[in-house]
Amino acid sequence: MENIRCLIIGGGPAGYTAAIYASRAGLNPVVYEGMEPGGQLTTTTIVENFPGFPEGVDANQLMTDMRAQAARFGADIRRGTVTSVDFSSRPFKLTIDSDTLIEAQAVIIATGATAKYLGLPSEQEFRGMGVSACATCDGFFYRKKDVAVVGGGDTACEEATYLANLCNKVYMIVRRDVFRASQAMQDKVRNTPNIEILWNCNTQEILGDASGVTGARLVRKDGKVFDIRIDGFFLAIGHHPNSDVFKEFIDTDELGYIVTSGKSSRTNVEGVFAAGDVQDPSFRQAITAAASGCKAALEVEKFLLSH
Ligand code: NDP
Repeated sequence: MENIRCLIIGGGPAGYTAAIYASRAGLNPVVYEGMEPGGQLTTTTIVENFPGFPEGVDANQLMTDMRAQAARFGADIRRGTVTSVDFSSRPFKLTIDSDTLIEAQAVIIATGATAKYLGLPSEQEFRGMGVSACATCDGFFYRKKDVAVVGGGDTACEEATYLANLCNKVYMIVRRDVFRASQAMQDKVRNTPNIEILWNCNTQEILGDASGVTGARLVRKDGKVFDIRIDGFFLAIGHHPNSDVFKEFIDTDELGYIVTSGKSSRTNVEGVFAAGDVQDPSFRQAITAAASGCKAALEVEKFLLSH
């Protein structure tokens, strides 16, 4: 059975950054990229807030370059998804794609989180063409335009107020007649004049043409169907951290985010570390994920030296 010194699970900014540091430290890391090489960033277009790119950078290019940088230092990057784990003793045992068993001395979990979508065909059709699940990433493209945010939680309120600063008008599409968000966030939304809350509404369809999103068709609880004119449609109905496969061994919070120890990337299992969005319900940025991947690799290096 293959015995890997440093196994990195996940091919997003956290995983690739961990791989850059681990390979430069001579830890011979192996990366399993999972189902979505490049991670969540590949669902967007241009990244304008990643430092070092004054003109912005194509998201897919950024991820391709991070991957190539890790490979240049010798990281062994493979397609494949971890389908089960046994973290009860070291070396840890993991199954890849349900059929390949491997062992690892140390593991960095960097499997990310997946934004929840409504499940509408039109949502997929216009993904990256007006449909986004990240206002901080894409809001800037909608300056002085009209947009909608779906959801009534803290994320939706935060994204709506963020967008209200940039956009002409922000609709909030809330499926009940109350917010789920904290009172402070609700107050912020209510005190923002260019946010209009559409209570008791669900999205039936996102409307658009070859240039992208042009509107949304909503249905209110009383049966009324109506259209709004928008250029951008932002999902903020929650994220699902990709931690399910580890939960038997690794502590998570009530939402499924992996719990790490203080400022460290250590989990409750010695030798297993977590980086990026799978352990971060708050920031969820490529740059913060990359930074935590760096931290995890440095901690793995220390761990392997002392074991
Ligand atoms: P939440 O689960 O808190 O809220 C999700 C929202 O989306 C709810 O209003 C929910 O409606 C709505 N929703 C879910 N599914 C659908 C659907 N299919 N159609 C329409 N609406 C839908 O997720 P958040 O991402 O907002 O927050 C996650 C956690 O992170 C929370 O604990 C939150 O407090 C925390 N957070 C804290 C922040 C802060 O403190 N600054 C910032 C951001 C997040 P319903 O209420 O009807 O279920």
